[in-house]
Amino acid sequence: MPKKYVYDFEEADYRNKKLFGGKGASLIQMTQLGLRVPPGFIITTEACKDFFAPRRAEIAELEALLEKQPPPEVRDQAIGKLFALINGLDLPQGLWEEVLQHMRRLEEKVGRKFGDPENPLLVSVRSGAAVSMPGMMDTVLNLGLNDQTVKGLAKQTGNEWFAYDAYRRFVNMFGRIVLGIDDKLFSSAWEEIKKKYNAKEDPDVPLEGLKEAVERFKEIIRRQYGEFPQDPWEQLKLAIKAVFRSWDSPRAIFYRVAEKITPDVADCTAVNVVTMVFGNMGWDSGTGVVFSRDVATGENRLYGEFLPVAQGEDVVAGIRTPMDIEEFRKRFPHLYDELYKGVKLLEKANKDVQDVEFTVERGKLYFLQCRNAKMTPLARVKTAVDMAKEGVITKEEALLKVSPDHVLQLLYPRIDPKAKAQPIAKGLPASPGAVSGQLVFHPDDAVRWAREGKKVILARVETKPDDVHGFYAAVGILTSRGGMTSHAAVVARAIGKPAVVGAEALVIDEAAKTMSVGGQVFKEGDWVTIDGNTGNVYAGVVPTVEPELIPELEELLSWADEVRRLGVRANADLPEDAALARKFGARGIGLLRIERMFRKPERLDLLRKVILAETREERVKHLEPLYRMLKGDFKEIFKIMDGLPVIVRLIDPPLHEFLPKPEEVLQQIYEAKAAGRDTKELERLYARVKALQEANPMLGHRGVRVGVTYPEFYYYLSRAIAEAAAELKKEGHNPVVEIMIPQVSDVREIRYVKEKGILPALRDVEKETGVRLEVKIGTMVETVRAALTMDQIAKEVDFISFGTNDLTQAVFSFSRDDAENKFIPQYLDLKILDADPFETLDVAGVGKLVELAARTAKEVNPKIEVGVCGEHGGDPKSIYFFEKTAVDYVSASPFRVPLARLAAAQARILGGGKADRE
Ligand code: ADP
Ligand code: MG
Ligand code: MG
Repeated sequence: MPKKYVYDFEEADYRNKKLFGGKGASLIQMTQLGLRVPPGFIITTEACKDFFAPRRAEIAELEALLEKQPPPEVRDQAIGKLFALINGLDLPQGLWEEVLQHMRRLEEKVGRKFGDPENPLLVSVRSGAAVSMPGMMDTVLNLGLNDQTVKGLAKQTGNEWFAYDAYRRFVNMFGRIVLGIDDKLFSSAWEEIKKKYNAKEDPDVPLEGLKEAVERFKEIIRRQYGEFPQDPWEQLKLAIKAVFRSWDSPRAIFYRVAEKITPDVADCTAVNVVTMVFGNMGWDSGTGVVFSRDVATGENRLYGEFLPVAQGEDVVAGIRTPMDIEEFRKRFPHLYDELYKGVKLLEKANKDVQDVEFTVERGKLYFLQCRNAKMTPLARVKTAVDMAKEGVITKEEALLKVSPDHVLQLLYPRIDPKAKAQPIAKGLPASPGAVSGQLVFHPDDAVRWAREGKKVILARVETKPDDVHGFYAAVGILTSRGGMTSHAAVVARAIGKPAVVGAEALVIDEAAKTMSVGGQVFKEGDWVTIDGNTGNVYAGVVPTVEPELIPELEELLSWADEVRRLGVRANADLPEDAALARKFGARGIGLLRIERMFRKPERLDLLRKVILAETREERVKHLEPLYRMLKGDFKEIFKIMDGLPVIVRLIDPPLHEFLPKPEEVLQQIYEAKAAGRDTKELERLYARVKALQEANPMLGHRGVRVGVTYPEFYYYLSRAIAEAAAELKKEGHNPVVEIMIPQVSDVREIRYVKEKGILPALRDVEKETGVRLEVKIGTMVETVRAALTMDQIAKEVDFISFGTNDLTQAVFSFSRDDAENKFIPQYLDLKILDADPFETLDVAGVGKLVELAARTAKEVNPKIEVGVCGEHGGDPKSIYFFEKTAVDYVSASPFRVPLARLAAAQARILGGGKADRE
């Protein structure tokens, strides 16, 4: 039996979007729901595939070439070849016969005949793939018109003006879309005619003008192609082929690449042949688009536009200003009611906000297409929550409708769209949020200006880890070099600072402290605004709108909390981070890095002395005052998180990060000598700094290794933590404190630092204060050996937490900073890696290790708590994976906490299955 390629709207299954395309499926569905849809049929995507099949290999090669966005000459040549190839193809066997049969049926249904000079049937021939690719492919309207049938149409409708309006549109469209003639030829002819007849808008052109347009358009076709085909069947055949071909229009190819529409998502286009209805029959006719809810705000009211005396493409083309749907309601209350009912019916059936095309022909409403609407993040969240409350969808369905990205986008300040500002440059949107500040060009200046209470934007050519203090001081970061994974971008995202990186048009001169672009020069102190959501850079202050956990998002996240298995904590180091984390719904702190508490100068100074000390006594002398200073910070954070766990990680980074660089000390020595000062101390410092230098600090003397060599260090840090907790308990608070040891590779390291540092501190504080402390002690898992020896380690600790950043470095043997800008981008390009493993957990390698270690940990110590505190804790795809493991909770940066709550719920609902599908 030959393949069946063609289906009537009445007979097909609307759920099969792959076969019928989204548009076709919607026509089937609307017909079967009883809405008024002009009759028609669908040629399947299968037919399109078979159409291309004979030259598939060559076509694929040209597509691949075009996907790479080659230079214009190469591109145009490739397009020419591709189209010539496709134009030489015949319709697949049996298709045309089927089309003829279905056309006959259509003729019977509507009581008109295709090509009949008395009573002609006209159709539209419309593209439509499995996923909507708005405007990317082609559609021809009014097909079936020729010099004879146009007269029949005029007679039938008693409206000659309308008939010729339809005809001039058709000849134009057919020439442009089917025959591939440059539309400028038609549009300039049309403009001349409008001018000649003094027509301001299209409907003002009189009948003679329309007739003239038809003749001129046919003449254009004659010159470019040959005689305009008068035979409607030939028109139909050519139009079907042209719609097939439009699957491979350059814009459709680019769109598929950009939107990652792969053949398993959508492969080829269907063709919808639909009886024409006419919005251009007069002032009681028109065409419009309506959304079932406001797609900007989410409000539950119809939202859309209507254009009288018009056909479909007029609305999008924007040649005339349409009327608001509210105006439509006033003018045509009955039609509005019918439209409202239909749209809401579709919303219910499809369980989502609908985007509906409709046409009114002489007071009669027709539905021409529906699909799920695209919305702003705000509207997405609000409509999902509202629909769940109205019972249109379940809470779980609502949770799946909102993407974690939407949540993130809702939490950052945005440029006020009403401001209509023009950017001076565009870079990469490295870290979301829009801010204004005064330009500074050096991190130290950022710190100084910020101390004076100024808002600054730190502009650098590129940034180094050394600049990080400037990051914290600045309200935003701007660089002229670097990519999405550059240091500036990574750090900015981690600390939730807006950043635009790689804005190459900017010439930043750090020494001269100027930034210039297009002849405009900005100096230190000049105001600029950056938008980390779009990458735009503006001169001056552009107003922004502040972020908030809107009530609907709050409600949605409370549903997420009911559903999810994974706990969500925050990585927070400072009181303000902790407060934000709690506000965003974190159930505790999964990682508090002590390091950031040393940023204050007097503390850094003491810490340096501790590090540089050569004896235990000397170290203790400086640790005593230092720990007292830290205690206050701990108290503050524990208080904010009262009743919720706070995991404090003992000091982790390589020690040299806290010390001056040898060159700097040398410089100081020279300066002191020149000034005739004593340099003995400085020279001692220099010798010590040199002695502490390491060949590979990331793998050197850091983390628990420092605790082992200097147990007193861990003693005093633990003491600060324990005293803070004890004092709070006495004050009636309920601190829940846990201490975490970093960089462990052997269980004996844990035993040793517990024995020599942590436990003595806890015991001493308990003895001195009389307060009983229940402090859990755990370890990070960030070395491969810790993961592999989990059977031993898990017995020794109350909790473990995967530090997936370092673990990823260790498993890959990649140094992150080098990897992310030297070769990972290329690895991604070459598909050696599917994703940056520092952003999305590498499931096959690192994930396997996490899974194994987490399972082992639970086996040997069922009470053990298992967390993840690397950046992956805030990455949705990674969260979907953790759902499938023995991990109990994830810890994310405060701004990512809401997103993590949602992703954890989605992971639960989908059983972690989403990670596989994506
Ligand atoms: P697109 O995918 O670009 O929206 P469509 O196939 O939906 O293309 O059609 C373009 C326009 O023409 C739309 O506004 C549509 O509503 C209108 N249209 C399509 N078919 C018909 C028809 N049979 N009668 C009246 N208008 C139509
Ligand atoms: Mg459409
Ligand atoms: Mg680490």
